Order: sequence, then C-alpha cells, then structure tokens
Amino acid sequence: MSFENLGLHEALLRAVKDSGYETATDVQALAIPAGLAGKDLMVSSRTGSGKTASFILPALEKILASRGENNTRREKGKIYGPKVLVLAPTRELAMQVSKAASTYGRHVQGLRVATVLGGMPYPLQIRQLMGPLDILIATPGRLLDHLQSGKCVLDNVEMLVLDEADRMLDMGFIDDIKVVASHTPATRQTVMYSATFAGHVGRLAQDLLNDPQRIEV
Ligand code: AMP
Repeated sequence: MSFENLGLHEALLRAVKDSGYETATDVQALAIPAGLAGKDLMVSSRTGSGKTASFILPALEKILASRGENNTRREKGKIYGPKVLVLAPTRELAMQVSKAASTYGRHVQGLRVATVLGGMPYPLQIRQLMGPLDILIATPGRLLDHLQSGKCVLDNVEMLVLDEADRMLDMGFIDDIKVVASHTPATRQTVMYSATFAGHVGRLAQDLLNDPQRIEV
C-alpha cells in the first residue's frame, strides 16, 4: 500500500520519501491507520517488518496535531513532560527507536525527543526530562528511578507504546511497567508490540488496553 493513502501529515510523508520507501509494509498498512484513529493495539510482527515506523509515525502525528492547539496558557517553569512515551527492553532497542523518531520527525519543526537509558549518567537525562519534551523513549527501570525522585512528569502522555513487551516481561520489568503506566492518564492511547500475547503478556494487555484491536502479520 502507498503511504499517501494512510492519512499521514505532509511533513511525515516527506520524511518517508527521504528514506526512499515506496510502499508501506504489512504492519504499517494495518497499524498506522488504526493508530491514527486512536485505537489501542496489540501487534505481533517480527523485527525487520517495519514495526518501528508503524508506531512512530502515528506518534508524530499526535505531536503535530497538538502543535495546532492553543498553548499560550502554558505556565513558565512548570514541567509538562512528554506527549508520547515509548518503553523498550534494552538500551540498543531504545536507541534504535530514538533514531527512528528523529528520522521520521526530521520535518517536524522543533521536535524534542529524549532518551532515558540505564547505565547512562543522570544529569543530562534530568535536564531533558524537566525541559519541553514531545517524545520520551526509555527503558523501564531508569524511567522509574526518575519518576520516584520526582524528576519526571507523565501527566500529559497521550500515547503509551510498549515495544517488545514480551522481552520486557522476561527481563522482570512487569512491576516497573505497571507503575510507569499508573503515572500516565487513563485516557491515553496504548499500543503494545509483542511476539506473543499468551500468559503474562496477555494479562498485562488486559490491564493496560481498552477494547484493543489485534494485528498479526
Ligand atoms: P523495524 O522492523 O522497525 O526494525 O525496521 C526494519 C528496517 O526496515 C529498518 O531499517 C527501516 O528503515 C526499514 N523500513 C521501515 N519501513 C520500510 C518501508 N516501508 N519500506 C522499506 N523499508 C522500510
């Protein structure tokens, strides 16, 4: 399917074109329109299927939509936190998602992406978390540290993405994920990517998702 028919903003279509992609992959053709429609999603698609763009493009669309809103009442000095939060199991994956956000968001003016990873120094992360921010990409343990020390606000999250949820649970992040999610508004859109939704991943999906659409490619 061509990207033009997916309902994406012109700034995002331009970035897709810059990347040289001609057609959307199967997961993109299904998850992008559903994501844009605000649906909660349970998606299974292998690495290499183009899954990162299938959630980052709808996430960027949310940022673009909120740019049109009247932000004049923003209080100076107040921490607003990100509109989109992506949780990923490993530093490597989080960095890949971060790179994709910058690539697909290259024509989104003033896009602010922060990446919060375990094993990296705290001061820069804290500065990023406390400044204006659109998309936050994080590993769960380190994000929880920042939340517990009051350095991170998630009250404005409109979209929560759990990438490779099965791996995050295998690594023992289930309680961290639940606490992080509990700091975000219940009205958020939630999308979960996982090779399987059996067992504890399925139970987590039941806890976090609202009338989800299942996508398997
Ligand atoms: P992912 O499954 O997100 O790890 O993506 C795998 C690779 O596919 C990445 O290197 C992307 O740059 C590339 N990719 C993503 N979407 C497309 C597309 N529509 N056409 C061709 N390549 C793509």
